[in-house]
Amino acid sequence: MTALRSWVPGADGSGFPAEHLPYGVFSTGDGPARVGARIGDHVVDLARLAADDAGGVGAVGDVFARPSLNAFMAAGPDAWRHVRSRLTELVCDAAARPLVEPALVPVDRTRAHLPVEVADYVDFYSSLEHATNLGRLFRPDGEPLLPNWRHLPVGYHGRAGTVAVSGTPVPRPSGQRRVGDEVVFGPSERLDIELEVAAVVGVPSVPGRPVPTDRAAEHVFGIALLNDWSARDIQAWEYQPLGPFLGKSFATTLAAWVTPLDALAPCRVPGRPQDPEPLPYLRLRPEDDWVLAVDLSVALRPAGTAVEEVVSRTSAAGLYWRLPQQIAHATVNGAHLRTGDLLASGTVSGPAPGTEGSLIELTRGGREPLEVGGVRRTFLEDGDEVVLRGEAAVGDGVRISLGEARARVVPGAVPGGR
Ligand code: CA
Repeated sequence: MTALRSWVPGADGSGFPAEHLPYGVFSTGDGPARVGARIGDHVVDLARLAADDAGGVGAVGDVFARPSLNAFMAAGPDAWRHVRSRLTELVCDAAARPLVEPALVPVDRTRAHLPVEVADYVDFYSSLEHATNLGRLFRPDGEPLLPNWRHLPVGYHGRAGTVAVSGTPVPRPSGQRRVGDEVVFGPSERLDIELEVAAVVGVPSVPGRPVPTDRAAEHVFGIALLNDWSARDIQAWEYQPLGPFLGKSFATTLAAWVTPLDALAPCRVPGRPQDPEPLPYLRLRPEDDWVLAVDLSVALRPAGTAVEEVVSRTSAAGLYWRLPQQIAHATVNGAHLRTGDLLASGTVSGPAPGTEGSLIELTRGGREPLEVGGVRRTFLEDGDEVVLRGEAAVGDGVRISLGEARARVVPGAVPGGR
């Protein structure tokens, strides 16, 4: 596949070339939030393009003059492919320039909004290395991996209402934690991140009807980076027996740009072996047995420093449980998918030092601080900024950058004042 050439200035060779075209929701000035597609350092205003009936993107109906992607996502794969192919032609065909140029907005003149009205939010736990590392840290005296882990994609239901778009500050949560034999209350002292890749559901499924692995991908609109902020001290005290609650529900950062699953088709690679073989409802045909070769990184800029440093590099290709298995499992009891469901991978960690997707792993439970920009960090301080990034090779030397998930920690409100 030869690399596409776009007439949009700066698009070729950027992380947002014509091969990418991720979707998001933006506004300018006091204008309404609406759907756009990113190309280079510009946003194509799809609401305007559709209103002008330019290039046939409006054929999918009134889905772009909306404050979320949900209406477009619900329109289904035929509509997604129609818009994507028309848009690709429009940004590559110089003859279309007069049609598209009026709808082109520099990205630095836009404000990003949460791209998806999040329906249900499920967070899986699909990295073998992360589950093993965390098991060792949280249960040092037991087997790191619980007996169920290799039989099913473990997950929990998260809090959809506190998912916020990249750039939204994260207030430090307060809660209960155990210090020695005492239970105390106050701001979390072990605030952490989790590097994750989320799938965004477009097409809902039918209540009561499980989605089989070989139909799962048809429901997925796209992929976006996600930071599952985690207060380890609150989590450690509350999580048994029912799992994470307030240690994670205070904030989740979602990237502003959702990369279409089709844009990532060239970076599908076979998943790692699974042992034991999963039960029949989790088995995969070879064509459904894929993970995404997306290179991921975590960068940290400590408060008061100008330096941002990468503290972890890893890959989504090492995940043990595949997306089709996660979807089959999440619906096998009859629970259905809804447009806007967010299915997060779980922290992505690799086997080597420096490939872990959380600070608790990178610092061995807070015992081995990182040196970042001349300062030491175990967990996050107020003012620290974290940026998650992802990159993928999509053929013929073309690399795309997933929309980043960025946020800064700020002091939180403490009940009773302080
Ligand atoms: Ca998580």
